[in-house]
Amino acid sequence: MRVALVTVYAHAGCTLKDVAGGYGTVFAVGSSWRARLLERAKARVAALPSLTLGYLAAQLARAGHTVSAHEVRGADALPAVDAAVILSSMVDASAERDLAARLRRRGIRTIVVGAFASARPELYADGADVVVVGEPEALGAALLDTPDGVVRAGDAPDLDALPFPDWSAFDVAGFRYAFLGFSAPTLPIGSARGCAYGCGYCPWRVTARFRERDPERVGREVAHQVARHDARGFAFRDPLFNLDRDRTLALARALAPHGVRFSAEMRADRLDPALLDALARAGLRSLEIGVESSDRALLAKERRNPPEARVIEEVVRVAQRRGVRVICNFILGLPDDDEASMRRTLAWARRLDSFAVQFTVATPYPGTRLADQVRALPLAPDAHTGFAPTFRHPRLGGAELTTLREHAYVQHYFRPRYAARFLRHAVPALLEDVLGRGGRGDVPHA
Ligand code: SF4
Repeated sequence: MRVALVTVYAHAGCTLKDVAGGYGTVFAVGSSWRARLLERAKARVAALPSLTLGYLAAQLARAGHTVSAHEVRGADALPAVDAAVILSSMVDASAERDLAARLRRRGIRTIVVGAFASARPELYADGADVVVVGEPEALGAALLDTPDGVVRAGDAPDLDALPFPDWSAFDVAGFRYAFLGFSAPTLPIGSARGCAYGCGYCPWRVTARFRERDPERVGREVAHQVARHDARGFAFRDPLFNLDRDRTLALARALAPHGVRFSAEMRADRLDPALLDALARAGLRSLEIGVESSDRALLAKERRNPPEARVIEEVVRVAQRRGVRVICNFILGLPDDDEASMRRTLAWARRLDSFAVQFTVATPYPGTRLADQVRALPLAPDAHTGFAPTFRHPRLGGAELTTLREHAYVQHYFRPRYAARFLRHAVPALLEDVLGRGGRGDVPHA
């Protein structure tokens, strides 16, 4: 059977699908020229496919099907296929539903998969032949033969039993994550799904059960993708890469021989200088940490167990000294935030002085505790971009939040000190690319 794996992009802004629990985000800063410049820059930084589609491609190809991958923007047409598997997302839900209905009218068997279809299958049920709730990898190629309607797949029982993702049908040359290099092919990879923590606003803990892979098999996947695609960068999609120190060291040992660069999201309170050293030697070049807010009491009310401020500060300082680009993630507009608390968070972000920052807006994603806590605005799913106000905040207007969001980005990136840091990181990274060196060896110091 000819099977198309389809990702839909309906927004003009930089849209990432494998973030926010798989519900997706659309990056937005604001309306000033500096905000627009940052939005354009972000679109150059990251473009990676969903891991789910890579796994499905491998399972379908192994079963003898002919697989193609497509990004549908606007009214793009699909070539003639027998079946289309559409990746669902919250941010492009309307366009995905429309596409499913159009394809079905053309006689193409239409199957919708992914986190948002799992949370809200009824939104897709009218347009698609099949809506898969759960992880489609649990069905594998059998998802083409399921009865029509909503199918409950459950979880893939053993992540190590899945074949390695197959990217041969995808435009690998177009994949990028600039923090790992400007030109070298970068692929997504997963060593874990879900998260063992329980932050009340976080969709990752509700869209997948927490599971980890064998580090040695992760290393074998890296070797396979290097040989197959000459990949030099790997963006780990794990919501939490470093729960257990021994396992994190085992991952570093499994990655080190391959001379690749990698990025990962980690808890700051599960890192220490020796572990950071081992990870940097293994190729860690980009580290995301959740900082969220400077107000620990506010975070505790959201059931977050925040790392101590001094721990976060040390991780940022030590990692950047080792040449690792640190991205600090913050959330604006949690229910107990007010303008003063957010300004304190912004001031701390400036003092932390990380290589990059992300300021999302608290969003009541389906299944989260936050969604039960707040009164959602009557908005279409597509408006839940992760960067826009979507609920009635007790103290903050939407305009206040978006103004602060823009201020947060502009104050971080438009300052002489940042320009100097950017050049210290970007120039050696560019040279590393041009000279074709791997992930180990010389690294720029912050
Ligand atoms: S530690 Fe991070 S990934 Fe885990 S639940 Fe909290 S915010 Fe989500």
